[in-house]
Amino acid sequence: MKKRFFVFSFAIVFCLVCFAGCGNVSSLEAASREANTYEINATLNYEEKTLTATEKLTYRNDSGFDFTELKFHLYPNAFREESTTFKAVNNTQFSRAYPNGFSEGNINITLVKVNGNEVDFQILNDDKNILNVPLGQTLKNGNSVEIEITFDLTIPNCNHRFGYGEHTLNLGNWYPIVCVFENGEFVTDGYSPNGDPFYSEVANYIVSINYPSDLTLASTGEIVDETSKDGKTTRTYQAKAVRDFALVFSDEFEVLTATAGTITVEYYYYDDEDAAANLQAAVDAINTFNDLFGAYPYTNLKVAKANFLQGGMEYPMLVYVSDEIDLDTEYKNAIIHETAHQWWYGVVGNNECEYAWIDEGLAEYSTAIFYDYNPEYGRTSQEVFASALSSYLLFCDVFREVYDTLDTSMSRNIHNFNTETEYVYLTYVKGVLMFDSIAELLGEDKMIKVLKDFYENSAFQIAEPSDLIESFESVAHKKLAGYIMSWLDGSVVIEELGN
Ligand SMILES: [Zn+2]
Repeated sequence: MKKRFFVFSFAIVFCLVCFAGCGNVSSLEAASREANTYEINATLNYEEKTLTATEKLTYRNDSGFDFTELKFHLYPNAFREESTTFKAVNNTQFSRAYPNGFSEGNINITLVKVNGNEVDFQILNDDKNILNVPLGQTLKNGNSVEIEITFDLTIPNCNHRFGYGEHTLNLGNWYPIVCVFENGEFVTDGYSPNGDPFYSEVANYIVSINYPSDLTLASTGEIVDETSKDGKTTRTYQAKAVRDFALVFSDEFEVLTATAGTITVEYYYYDDEDAAANLQAAVDAINTFNDLFGAYPYTNLKVAKANFLQGGMEYPMLVYVSDEIDLDTEYKNAIIHETAHQWWYGVVGNNECEYAWIDEGLAEYSTAIFYDYNPEYGRTSQEVFASALSSYLLFCDVFREVYDTLDTSMSRNIHNFNTETEYVYLTYVKGVLMFDSIAELLGEDKMIKVLKDFYENSAFQIAEPSDLIESFESVAHKKLAGYIMSWLDGSVVIEELGN
């Protein structure tokens, strides 16, 4: 009797400990069970700056359609010399991306198998940015198929997501990733030098990488195995329900570790006299966004300083922060912004080519209000919003002057922004102004409740603007769709503060 009581009460306590306040951990397990699985075995030749790999994808068709082929993005081909339309780097970025002159990067697919049988695959478009895999049969809704792809990479000398610079070698968007199937077709948007031109569903990853043991590696996932022999290390990572898998190598990295609740936070850096405080910025960001929006569901987050021409880059469980940021406050701001992307982009996904304002606008808004909850950083959200407003109005004036016309619509495909400046102002800056203006209408407490609801309901999914609008209307009990649409289509009039 006593023993049974012990078992019973232990079970209750176990359940309470495991599930109280960590709803997203159990929803992560549920998402993981539904997700496709990539198994990648890769060997990095660090001297040659090449990589060879075999990738196995177990893909379940749950699209509601039957289909006969699968399509994959080949993002490394945006670094080919011959790439034109979907290039990774434009002319204005060239000298910062390639300080030693142009350097070719690419992916070469050598073999594709479907359920163990070799197939004739096609590389599509002039820019060779899509791999088409004929399945040789109809993959009916609800059925699965196993794809095996053997490939090798040429890693460019380029300060980019995929490339190496003076201090780090970055493997971002480096393997064939299956295109999202939506509305009866695969979404195949190509690379863009502006913004983050990516769109993927959450998947499970088991990635084994062989690399020189004298390199330090920061990566998505958790280490599940590691062996070293003859100066080479083979490390295996596992990650469940993540949208992508990236790695950064360096022979200069130092590492600092801290915790944010149960989450391990690591900072990989070089040339940084403020390393402890920069690590703390990531810890403070996780703690703040956990409290405001809902639990970060993964066990760790790594922040890696990297050779990267844009301010920072978000990947699941790993963010890059550019070593080109000189100003200490801006460096911390980038850490906080990229950490916010773990909530907006990572857990709640969106099509970044169509609706960049969702993840960038929310990451900027989250960063702004972070300062109100962490006054030791010496900024307030009001200062951030005021500066966003004045710079946005200046952008509008200058743009109108130069081009004689101004399109301020936000919901545009990434390829339909004419310049990087236009893209940044209409997704990040106008995005944060829109969220601030809605928060002004609702009050900040209600705004946080809306974002909590949106995070919970869209976790591990792909959110559409309508999902966000639904959270606004159902939580705030206000008809906001028309107002939000007026921001998105460019018809809202944005005026000086106090007008
Ligand atoms: Zn961002």
